Amino acid sequence: MEKNALYYQFPYVKEFDATVTSCEERDGQYQVELDAHGFYPEGGGQAADHGMIGDALVSDVQEESLKDPETGEKLTDEKGNVMVRILHTVARALEVGRSYHCSIDWERRMRNSRNHSGEHIVSGLVHKHYGYNNVGFHMSDVMTIDFDGVLTWEQLMKIEEEANEVVLANRAVDQIWPSEEELQDTDFRSKKALKGDVRLVDLGGADLCACCGTHVMTTGEIGLIKILSVLGHKGGVRVELFCGKDALQDYRNKHNDLLELSHMLSFAPSEVKEAVRQHMEQSAAKDRRIAELNQRYYAMKAETLKDFTGVLVDVEDGMNNVELRKCCDYFMKHTKAKVVGVFGLKDVDGSKRDVDSSWNYVIGSETEDVRCRAKDFNALINGRGGGQKEMIQGSAESTEDKIRKAMQDIFG
Ligand SMILES: [Zn+2]
Repeated sequence: MEKNALYYQFPYVKEFDATVTSCEERDGQYQVELDAHGFYPEGGGQAADHGMIGDALVSDVQEESLKDPETGEKLTDEKGNVMVRILHTVARALEVGRSYHCSIDWERRMRNSRNHSGEHIVSGLVHKHYGYNNVGFHMSDVMTIDFDGVLTWEQLMKIEEEANEVVLANRAVDQIWPSEEELQDTDFRSKKALKGDVRLVDLGGADLCACCGTHVMTTGEIGLIKILSVLGHKGGVRVELFCGKDALQDYRNKHNDLLELSHMLSFAPSEVKEAVRQHMEQSAAKDRRIAELNQRYYAMKAETLKDFTGVLVDVEDGMNNVELRKCCDYFMKHTKAKVVGVFGLKDVDGSKRDVDSSWNYVIGSETEDVRCRAKDFNALINGRGGGQKEMIQGSAESTEDKIRKAMQDIFG
């Protein structure tokens, strides 16, 4: 940890001048060291800063441990800090010994700082109220925190409430570099045993945690903290959340979706939930009505075929798998057919019966084993599927004529 780094000493330095002290080519890019550290290197769950060194774009910043050239072991200073060099990835070579003006991609840095600070507050409050530890933390499009204990949605809503109170109180965020003795007497959150310099970050009294990441200077800068979801994860839970502008963008996206739904349904946004509930009820009632009418339709068809004894082929347009099954079942029970095949054209609008189209099918028999002939049948109609001895189902790419012929050839 670079205690003297600008991002610790002057957390809001956005631009600075630095001299290039080394520049090496690696995999077609250049790794540059500077004599001042303003760009935060990836670490502690936080992504690296981006920005510019002169007119060269910085696409990554990493800490690389210094190693003893003979033993290969990591070198440490007298306090036990692992010695590192900070490498900035740029696309073109920079001149060693020359001073460059550097600027940090501030939007990206602040997003990371807000998220990181929000994560601390939530983790600190969870630890305080429930004693669970943050055992994993990821920042990408959405931020996730893994806890080693189970939290309910209601518990998390209380945490969210309290976390936002801390934000609104706009308390100072302090960093403390305690001595070894002070550290022993301090109660703080930490994931691992620590060696060398330790930096504690105090989030306005809501959390005290050993951390190397960047943070905002007052809790109000975090903005809204919104928990999105909780899922069971490795015996504990994984919590998704947004902070600040990410939370605003999420609100915008969801609000726009709500407005669109409101237009689609011709109901006010506040009535959309009830409107959807009514639509679902109406849709279920329609499904019941369709099922009833289908039942009558099967009965009428079966009545005309009740003395049929051969291979019965019934072709329907747009019947789904459930209906095909019911139809096949009905014909099996109410005709004397040896084998019944019911075929439904999948896409009623775009498909035709007389050219190769997509079909679903169900074939059944009360007396014959239809499963043992499924493979031969599928081969003739470019199909796939199988099932039980008395009933198989599948799909096919074929025409009505080819299907009728295949039914006779295989089951006749
Ligand atoms: Zn942290």
